[in-house]
Amino acid sequence: MKLLAVHPGPLMYTKIYMRLEPLGLELVAQAARQAGHEVHLIDLQAETHTDYFTIVHRWKPDVVAFSCNYLANVPEIVDLAKLTKETLPRSFILVGGHSASFVAQEFLEHGEGTIDCVLKGEGDAAIPQLLLAVAHDRRAVTKVPGVTTLDGEGPPPRFVESLDELRPARDLLRHRHKYYLGVLDPCASIEFTRGCPWDCSFCSAWTFYGRSYRAVSPDKAVEDLERIKEPGVFIVDDVAFIQAKHGFEIGEAIARKGIKKQYYLETRGDVLLRNKDVFQFWKTLGLAYMFLGIEAIDEAGLKRYRKRISLGKNFEALEYARSLGIMVAINLIADPDWDRERFEVVRQWCLEIPEIVTISVNTPYPGTETWHTESRKVQTRDYRLYDIQHAVLPTRLPLFEFYQELVKTQQVLNTKHLGWAALRDTVQIAAGHLLRGQTNFVKMLWKFNSVYNPKLQYADHQQPVKYEMRLPPAPQEKVNSKLLYILPPRGRHGRAIDDSTEQFVDTTRMGTSA
Ligand code: SF4
Repeated sequence: MKLLAVHPGPLMYTKIYMRLEPLGLELVAQAARQAGHEVHLIDLQAETHTDYFTIVHRWKPDVVAFSCNYLANVPEIVDLAKLTKETLPRSFILVGGHSASFVAQEFLEHGEGTIDCVLKGEGDAAIPQLLLAVAHDRRAVTKVPGVTTLDGEGPPPRFVESLDELRPARDLLRHRHKYYLGVLDPCASIEFTRGCPWDCSFCSAWTFYGRSYRAVSPDKAVEDLERIKEPGVFIVDDVAFIQAKHGFEIGEAIARKGIKKQYYLETRGDVLLRNKDVFQFWKTLGLAYMFLGIEAIDEAGLKRYRKRISLGKNFEALEYARSLGIMVAINLIADPDWDRERFEVVRQWCLEIPEIVTISVNTPYPGTETWHTESRKVQTRDYRLYDIQHAVLPTRLPLFEFYQELVKTQQVLNTKHLGWAALRDTVQIAAGHLLRGQTNFVKMLWKFNSVYNPKLQYADHQQPVKYEMRLPPAPQEKVNSKLLYILPPRGRHGRAIDDSTEQFVDTTRMGTSA
């Protein structure tokens, strides 16, 4: 069969800091290809809707598979599905990915029969079986693990057997030079591990992967890295190098093979402090950027988000990251409850430190615990505003003033790390990029004001809403975390998954599989 895999268009965040290859969709595409299907992939972050419909009209795919990791993309995907079904009424349309998994039923309802199914969980695990059913007997689709249709649900989704079996179909992307991450231009993505053993209240990494943590074997990881042509690499793991041994083994193989790249990764402060040697080693291999999930600069905030780390440790980690001589980026979560004074304190802090600070807005996301505890307070159910750059919970300040303060705080990043200031510091790198025809980084430096603008952000709330999210049944004080999971938690090495909100989970002793 002919399968067209589609990644939706850019969102606010992707318009400025980075544009990354759709790695998950590439894995799904490769699994389908390995099962004998003909596959095309289009990424609407880098191409247009017109390009998409050109393929649909000319190639006439039997199956169209959309990736939906971000809620804000739901309306775009529903509209594309409707238009595609008009053109190809016999085609089979499916959606997968993080957000699709958490809002499967309502996604199908918005589609009004044009979306045939949502495939929850890891698409690489289930796509071959689904395509087999579509080819031979569409009624058997509901027997595929992870499938939800308007008529009912299939068995629960399954984990992929082994992360070593499949490498992403990077060759299917038509515009690889468009992917970049700040100064890493161009930049590819790679996955060394999947899942996260922590359970922060605002995050859905753990609920999606059943709090499992699985690793690609060092040999396979390096084999994949060798196939990457780009000089920059984004390591997409939620928390990089939780296991020092795994990080060292990959690093040693890279050193042996003499692979020279620049890397960006994301990790936690406590993991960095526990595994200092690994990060130091990776610095010698080309680790250039690190993102630390700090989230709050007060103990109360860290406790509320259940980060399971103290403020002191986070600051110690920040100091250590600085000492490595790599560029560190951190994120802070702005609470809609913040007043002017609070913004001012945060702004001053951002000005005092050398790091890149991004500010996101506390947003209850389906699949997270806060969705169950806070979602009843939401002021809007417009999917497009669920991009953590808009306030969907009630703000203490009038909404417009909240955006003024937010953008003023985000401006610190613009002043310190974008525009002429950045160009002055990176002039040689920028010139090198331009000589090689790479313009993403240089263009990004002047985009801030056109993307982050209180008037535009406020105006987004006044747009007519075509598709509205459904709220969870009732607000809950304490959520039974098992209800949250897409992939069922398996327990680790004979230990049951800890459901309490207080107990620390010792991840240093974890094995490579859940
Ligand atoms: S440590 Fe990071 S990835 Fe893991 S649950 Fe917390 S925020 Fe999510």
